[in-house]
Amino acid sequence: MIDMGLPSYIEGMTGDKSLSKAVNRGRLLNILREEGSVSRASLAKKSGLNKATVSSQISELIEMGIVKETGTGKSDLGRKPVMLEIAGDAGYALGISIISEFLYVTVMDLTQHIILENIVPVHDVSSEKIIKLILQIIANTTKKLPPSFYGLTGVGIAIPGIVDREGDKIVLSARFNWVNVLLRSRIEKKYKGILHIGNDATLAAIAERECFNRESQDLVCVLIDEGIGSGAYINGSAYYGYNGKFGEVGHMTILHEGPRCPCGNYGCWDLLGSEAALRRNLADAGNGKIPSQEEMLLLASERPLWSRPAFDQFVTYSAVGVVSLINAFGPSSVIINSDVLRASDEMYSNFKQAVEERTINRFPECKIKLSTLGKTAPSIGACIAVTEKFYHTLVIQ
Ligand SMILES: [Zn+2]
Repeated sequence: MIDMGLPSYIEGMTGDKSLSKAVNRGRLLNILREEGSVSRASLAKKSGLNKATVSSQISELIEMGIVKETGTGKSDLGRKPVMLEIAGDAGYALGISIISEFLYVTVMDLTQHIILENIVPVHDVSSEKIIKLILQIIANTTKKLPPSFYGLTGVGIAIPGIVDREGDKIVLSARFNWVNVLLRSRIEKKYKGILHIGNDATLAAIAERECFNRESQDLVCVLIDEGIGSGAYINGSAYYGYNGKFGEVGHMTILHEGPRCPCGNYGCWDLLGSEAALRRNLADAGNGKIPSQEEMLLLASERPLWSRPAFDQFVTYSAVGVVSLINAFGPSSVIINSDVLRASDEMYSNFKQAVEERTINRFPECKIKLSTLGKTAPSIGACIAVTEKFYHTLVIQ
């Protein structure tokens, strides 16, 4: 379960029956989500609630379609207990992530299993066109979903840029040249369900932690694609910075006399260590043509002699930036999400070695891992964030 902050329903409640009911229901749902399959007696034991409370809460949750009985479990003595589970297929979350020329679409059920994935090409990254496309995807996905109790529970949207803390406004997406785009109000004109809008790297960090790194209280996730962004967990909570401004690590200075960046700074990490920079360097070293994503990844796996300086530079700048993040945050885990590093074991090994050499006294406490979620990480994180909000709404019903 991710920490989405103190739910608003708790803030408005006093110490009356409705509060204790919501707290008890939340506790039972959390145990069911953690355990997968559990009996009423075991729920009572794990929650500390009495059997009558558990029984009446579970009856309500079954009526609400969120919990189901799944047969009998084992027992050494007496009657075999009836086992309970979250009804994963009672509803679905839709996650959409905008990454350069594509929208990555993920649909997950309520137990966080992926049931649908899609990649939609984008020819125009103007906010008008993207909003239109998002609304089309919402409508099409709603039609495609199997029949269920709740249908589409909500939509999560991951944006490469600064998103305000409430997720109402895209303050700046330098990559798409978006400034102060009121995305929420535009989407809500047509879609009335739960809507979570967040920074792509923060949502990627949420996905990495929830899927593979639940033990990490302090985690940094670095997305290296067309640009570079970072999401982080500090003391077990996703970190947003003041008004959602954390994550623009692509604009850390890597070369103080480097080229001018559209952000106003010089020698930003984005300009030197991103995939966009690598593609430019490959074009300069090769036939002058910017390689496509597929061509770049093929080159990364083969690395012909002429391309090696460009890839070596990519590895060096990636490592230099990651070292600064490790030094700044002191995380226990750093997750690197890079298709290029994933394409070559040798390059990833060189990258890891460079990071470890430069931060030698911080290992082995800090683990470096290569993401296995790849470009779907932000859309998976968007689904997880939506599902979490959906569970909050169930608790107060
Ligand atoms: Zn910059």
